[in-house]
Amino acid sequence: MNDELRELYQQVILDHSRKPRNHGTIADGAVHVHGDNPSCGDEIDLFVKFDEAGKIADIKFDGQGCAISQASASMMTLKVKGRQQVDATSLARDFRVIVTGEGKVANEDALGELQLLEGVQHFPQRVKCAMLGWRALEQAIQMHNAGGSEGTASSED
Ligand code: ZN
Repeated sequence: MNDELRELYQQVILDHSRKPRNHGTIADGAVHVHGDNPSCGDEIDLFVKFDEAGKIADIKFDGQGCAISQASASMMTLKVKGRQQVDATSLARDFRVIVTGEGKVANEDALGELQLLEGVQHFPQRVKCAMLGWRALEQAIQMHNAGGSEGTASSED
């Protein structure tokens, strides 16, 4: 990563961790997933509301933990809100490729500034932090399709 990119990365992480977007809870009609990453102490509660067509109509999260976990969750909510499940799932897959450095990205354009987090791949412990919100999202989509509304997602499995 060059200096300019590194600076941009730090700005984006700092900005999202200080002012998380879509922060809060959704009281009714949302799938709730509690995600935790014990190795770092990160926790998030993700609320996803799907419309009748299965699109992500609304999404909010609450949580505590390191800047990367909270910033990544914040960025995730911005990216997937209003999207079809299939697009959100494919973004989650591509984001995993970015932060682990394993595999091939299917749609680079869709990732946008999420690509700034690729530096995480040099810090294996941080990968779990960055993935926490996304894992919770994948879990929420699975729960929704299975007709459930409460679930958990751990970074330890
Ligand atoms: Zn963390």
